[in-house]
Amino acid sequence: MIDRQAPVFVAGHRGLVGSSIVRRLEADGFSDLRTVGRDALDLRDQAAVDAWFDVERPRYVFLVAGTVGGIHANSTRPAEFLYDNLMIHSTVVQAAHRTGVDKLLYLGSSCIYPRHADQPITEEALLTGPLEPTNEGYALAKIAGIKLCETYRRQYGDDFISAMPTNLYGPGDNFDLEGGHVLPALMRRFHEAREAGAASVTVWGTGTARREFLHVDDLADACLFLMDRYSEAGHVNVGTGVDLTIRELAETVRDLVHPEGELVFDTSRPDGMPRKVLDVSRLTDLGWTATTSLAEGLADTYRWYLEAAERGVLRL
Ligand code: GDP
Repeated sequence: MIDRQAPVFVAGHRGLVGSSIVRRLEADGFSDLRTVGRDALDLRDQAAVDAWFDVERPRYVFLVAGTVGGIHANSTRPAEFLYDNLMIHSTVVQAAHRTGVDKLLYLGSSCIYPRHADQPITEEALLTGPLEPTNEGYALAKIAGIKLCETYRRQYGDDFISAMPTNLYGPGDNFDLEGGHVLPALMRRFHEAREAGAASVTVWGTGTARREFLHVDDLADACLFLMDRYSEAGHVNVGTGVDLTIRELAETVRDLVHPEGELVFDTSRPDGMPRKVLDVSRLTDLGWTATTSLAEGLADTYRWYLEAAERGVLRL
């Protein structure tokens, strides 16, 4: 178990994942959480990150900061996704090493795996084939991040571990229609269609691509589980092991938000990876499984969306 009284740095605490990890750690009695906003510290800047670590001296780090987005943002801004993430991950890993951090958890992503990986995807599929072109920049940066953790462990003996989450959703998500991921985008589109009395809602692609969705609070729980119990070189998949088609997802969101809505598929938009579902047996064998069903998670996210819209704090 990691020490609940020690200083813990959550890098990326305002994002979907970071805000959930902060809630999880607070609920678990962590008493010394350290966070810093993008405005106060540019995580791409090694000298600035070094200076911050020298003052704050965290003993544990959750490295969940990064430039993230959905299929459109990834495919139209590949340079930003590659550069920002390469830099952020390198500076924090290096500063953690230099200041003798006890343990660091790095968060990858299921998009690191080859486009034609066997499904469900096992951890061993990494670097066995070409990447999905719509998120290649992001994936390359994430692969470099995993390798950073592995090589710092091998060369310096640092206890740096990596978790690979599947597609995530939940409270605090980005509801931007162009830049965000499928689940919040569909939720917002159905919501706005209902408000406007519109019958049809656009879904990108053919609807046949298959994805797995993990509630972010389950991910936060898995991250703490791994921080407490896992100290090995290999990265660990985190997901539900269950997938569905984008059409099925859209129908489920419609039933919750705007039951009269009709789906219209815009096939000029890319499907991306044909299927992406993780083999989660390594994590299951360690003793952790996801507990939030998609139905519960969607209802919870929609409740949060309505409240956040009311308070004017949605990321749009
Ligand atoms: P990906 O797993 O990196 O492809 O992440 P996304 O969440 O961006 O997209 C997942 C799938 O949902 C892709 O097949 C998209 O074409 C499809 N999709 C359907 N409608 C939307 C939408 O409104 N926004 C996004 N981002 N994807 C959508």
